[in-house]
Amino acid sequence: MTATLMNGTALAERIRGEVAREASELGGVCLVTVLVGDDPASHIYIDRKHAAANEVGIETRDVRLPASAPEDDVVALVEELNADDSVDGMLVQLPLPTGMDEVRVTHAVDPVKDVDGFHPVNAGNLYLGTPLHVPATAWGCMELLAEYGVEVGGADAVVIGRSEIVGKPMAMLLLAANATVSVCHSRTKDLAAHTRRADILVAAVGRPWLVTPDMVKPGAAVVDVGINRAEDGLRGDVDPAVTEVAGYLTPVPGGVGPMTIALLLRSTLQAARYRRGLLAFRGN
Ligand code: NAP
Repeated sequence: MTATLMNGTALAERIRGEVAREASELGGVCLVTVLVGDDPASHIYIDRKHAAANEVGIETRDVRLPASAPEDDVVALVEELNADDSVDGMLVQLPLPTGMDEVRVTHAVDPVKDVDGFHPVNAGNLYLGTPLHVPATAWGCMELLAEYGVEVGGADAVVIGRSEIVGKPMAMLLLAANATVSVCHSRTKDLAAHTRRADILVAAVGRPWLVTPDMVKPGAAVVDVGINRAEDGLRGDVDPAVTEVAGYLTPVPGGVGPMTIALLLRSTLQAARYRRGLLAFRGN
């Protein structure tokens, strides 16, 4: 068997086209990003987010503070942006400099503007099955499964990874879509015994090629969230040889990665609708 590759680049392009049309209808949608410090990868990610947003007609503001900025100043800045009526969506780029309390800073973002979906109001609503803002990567994985007609209801789904950013929201979305979900992590005994049962396998670990063909059920849909830098380029968490066993597989690059930015843009539109009373935000 050779897996059908789930092309995130193509689907993301379509979503960006939809966002562009809707952003122009809404008018004046604005995303602000807060970057603290000089982590080189974060600078690249922020630049990409701005370029993608501007391309679809979303205005952006790029606020940067030095790594030496006191935590209180970062929180004060976030609160100022919460109160700024010209801002629809806001994200604080992670990681924050060592020693800064990421929980305090990310939880300071107004839940209505929290396009990353990290605030407890948004995480809690996802848990309760009444999602508002949902973390973009997990949302992107669900959109890819839907695009390729992968049946989620009743499927055995296994998520490797339990981070707040990817693993947990992924598990919640799969559960909400009626999959039977197992969440594996670094303390899981006999990982392969779990993964081999999966009709849908999501790897969000950060270990290059951790998932090998012998760990995959023939015909399964495998979603590879991992981005690991190697000398010869990017590697996912899934060995590309899995294509010989799986029914569907997201490539790295070109799978989940482009979807994350596309769904971040869609979240920004959603924030604008919440703020303009076009959609009910039930979190307050
Ligand atoms: P993270 O916070 O480091 O979480 C990794 C998870 O993997 C943890 O839950 C950890 O378990 C688990 N884990 C580690 N080693 C394991 C092993 N040997 N067996 C089973 N589970 C293991 O990472 P993250 O932020 O979720 O990101 C995961 C990967 O996705 C990274 O490669 C990241 O770069 C990538 N990513 C990609 C996108 C995208 O747009 N494509 C977006 C976000 C992240 P414990 O909880 O027990 O420590």
